[in-house]
Amino acid sequence: MPIRDEQGNQCDHVVRLHLRSLGTPRVSEFTALANAQRTYGPHGICISFESGMSMPQAVDTATQCVELVNVNVGTCLMNQGSFNPRMTGQQNAMFGIGDTQNVPQNNILAVWVQNVRKEDGTRLAGCASHPADRGACVVAAAGSPWTLAHEVGHVLGLVHQTGSRNLMSTPTSSISANPPQLSATEVATVKRSRYCQRV
Ligand SMILES: [Zn+2]
Repeated sequence: MPIRDEQGNQCDHVVRLHLRSLGTPRVSEFTALANAQRTYGPHGICISFESGMSMPQAVDTATQCVELVNVNVGTCLMNQGSFNPRMTGQQNAMFGIGDTQNVPQNNILAVWVQNVRKEDGTRLAGCASHPADRGACVVAAAGSPWTLAHEVGHVLGLVHQTGSRNLMSTPTSSISANPPQLSATEVATVKRSRYCQRV
């Protein structure tokens, strides 16, 4: 049974997103969500907003709030996991929010924080390395209009592309198409992801 997103796209697949804000994004969460819907929706993939929460409700203690405003994502590799290279304690704490709030394992948790840095100090607009059993990504407050859609793309199995018109171009601040493009191969990859369900 096809569904529709808020942009009027009709879809036979859905990606379910849970949004949490521990930072104050330059591009609002709902603009970023609408941009993701405008990017994936024309390909029959609806981005569904399942739940949203802003600080301080998103974490348990004031200590955690302060600690997670600036997140160290280690090496930010897609295969970062329980072994070397591992998730940092901050990533585990952040993505643990999803567990405590019952985000289903085939859904994606996206968390906005003030700053995202690699362990060598490099600033990132976002990072999609996540535990193997939990789809999640982090977006920096200074992220571009397309950072959320791009990081969700990584969680869905997409890799970087050359040129500036594709969603998976990097950095996302240089994406020149509105909405960004997805190739037929990329659309097929997304539809095969465990984080994308047929409806
Ligand atoms: Zn990327």
